[in-house]
Amino acid sequence: MGKEEGALPSNFIRSIVDEDNRSQKHGGRVATRFPPEPNGYLHIGHAKSICLNFGLARDYEGTCNLRFDDTNPVTEEVEYVESIQEDVRWLGFDWGERRFFASDYFEQLYDYAVELIRKGLAYVDDLNAEQIREYRGTLTQPGKNSPFRDRSVEENLDLFQRMRAGEFPDGSRVLRAKIDMASPNINMRDPTIYRIKHAHHHRTGDAWCVYPMYDYTHCISDALEHITHSICTLEFEDHRPLYDWVLDQLPVPCHPQQIEFARLNLTYTVLSKRKLLRLVMEKHVNGWSDPRMPTLSGMRRRGYTPEAIRDFCDRIGVAKADSIVDIELLNFCLREDLNRRALRVMAVLDPIKVVIENYPEGQVEMLDAENNPEDPAAGSRQIPFSREIYIEREDFMEEAPKKYFRLAPGKEVRLKHAYYVTCTNVVKDPATGQVLEVHCTYDPATRGGWSQDGRKVKGTLHWVSTAHAVDAEVRLYDHLFTQENPDDVEEGKDFLSNLNPDSVKVLTGCKVEPGLASATAQERYQFLRQGYFCVDSVDSSSGALVFNRIVALKDSWAKEQRKAG
Ligand code: ATP
Ligand code: MG
Repeated sequence: MGKEEGALPSNFIRSIVDEDNRSQKHGGRVATRFPPEPNGYLHIGHAKSICLNFGLARDYEGTCNLRFDDTNPVTEEVEYVESIQEDVRWLGFDWGERRFFASDYFEQLYDYAVELIRKGLAYVDDLNAEQIREYRGTLTQPGKNSPFRDRSVEENLDLFQRMRAGEFPDGSRVLRAKIDMASPNINMRDPTIYRIKHAHHHRTGDAWCVYPMYDYTHCISDALEHITHSICTLEFEDHRPLYDWVLDQLPVPCHPQQIEFARLNLTYTVLSKRKLLRLVMEKHVNGWSDPRMPTLSGMRRRGYTPEAIRDFCDRIGVAKADSIVDIELLNFCLREDLNRRALRVMAVLDPIKVVIENYPEGQVEMLDAENNPEDPAAGSRQIPFSREIYIEREDFMEEAPKKYFRLAPGKEVRLKHAYYVTCTNVVKDPATGQVLEVHCTYDPATRGGWSQDGRKVKGTLHWVSTAHAVDAEVRLYDHLFTQENPDDVEEGKDFLSNLNPDSVKVLTGCKVEPGLASATAQERYQFLRQGYFCVDSVDSSSGALVFNRIVALKDSWAKEQRKAG
């Protein structure tokens, strides 16, 4: 915490860049990239990587490429390419002309593989996947050489060319780098660099039936794009020797430095595309953009702001050790941002009718309501007040305890922006005893919600005029998982067993201020005393207003921090 306004965040990666700039290692250039595989939607973890990579380019006047790491045609789709672009732009970053695809390098990658074969550094292996696994050895035991390891260069060149020509079925042969089957680093035990896949690729179509592996492709793509700092997550630390080995063997234009940082983990959240895909495919959520999803498209629909997400990414920082971030920090960032920007309006989520007996029937008066006390420029609006209004059902209690400061028989409260009212009696359903209406009187001398005689009330309620209220549906969200760590499960179960069955609560028949009738998709508001809400962009239409609660008002995280600090 304690980020200084305007100061550049400092972290170990920036220190490396500073040092490289001092020593002129890359001639003072800073070139990064964000390299998603288009096999799913981006999530908040990717936002950390985007902010880091694009943020370095911005602050060091360098460049950041958007590179699609599209080497696995079976799981990749154009839909994902498009969503990724939309999400990166929405977060506020621009790759300009610098959009690349690893598939654009397939020909070059193939030529480099031929070069490795010529140098005796790669061979075609006929072992099947299972045999390769057996030969690989374990962490404690060295691997064994494949019987095909010593094929001649000519034979390898011929077989690899025929692999490309489509002569062999999937899985029958692979091309492997010839490094060291006894290496203590398993990644160096002759890793596969090409496999046969007769599959249609979303960009190259049917031009290829051999596809390069990630480790081989990634370092070469970085070098071809003249990347200086290739930033990835910690699980690639053990792959760095392979990254460097490949580049050292080939006449590539430069040798980028791979730097690893800790990925983002968030409480109550899964951040693995494989798991998110399961949530979508098995319909535990309504698609990738479900407002409960930690995807950027889900967060956008929910109403999260890019500013809050970027602030969150700045605050969590960049470190070398894994940790889990409290999701309340993200909620804190949202509140900080929305508090300043969201217009404050009144919405009654669970309405009960209030009749103001001494208010003239048929009279309507317009009252002035401040739009946002945090932002004087936001101005004010007029809201209608009349004899019948709605208040929140939970703001009335027939038999109230002493410390109840809301409405109860004989008690006086303030109606926000309006008047003081005192409850006189209630109308009940004779059959059930349920309270149908609350009756009050108002004090005309308290217009605007302030008394002339200095009389104080403890409770202030929000309300809407019944005749003017607009109907709305409101969706309240809770964590998608019940456990802080969703992967914390009993033997034999998986993360889905921790799904929260009550992650969404749909409230229909809510009543909102008339001004909201014209609210459009993605507009954000503070509903007084209820939290921050956003117009749902999918299910709202001219006839039906649907709001998603972005985050409640309660600021437990900041309180905890104050207590702790
Ligand atoms: P996942 O683990 O969710 O499937 P991935 O690493 O397979 O993600 P990629 O599309 O390869 O997804 O990720 C693109 C970039 O985003 C990579 O550089 C990756 O390291 C980074 N990234 C992915 N997840 C996180 C995370 N949780 N925190 C930080 N960076 C991440
Ligand atoms: Mg990946």
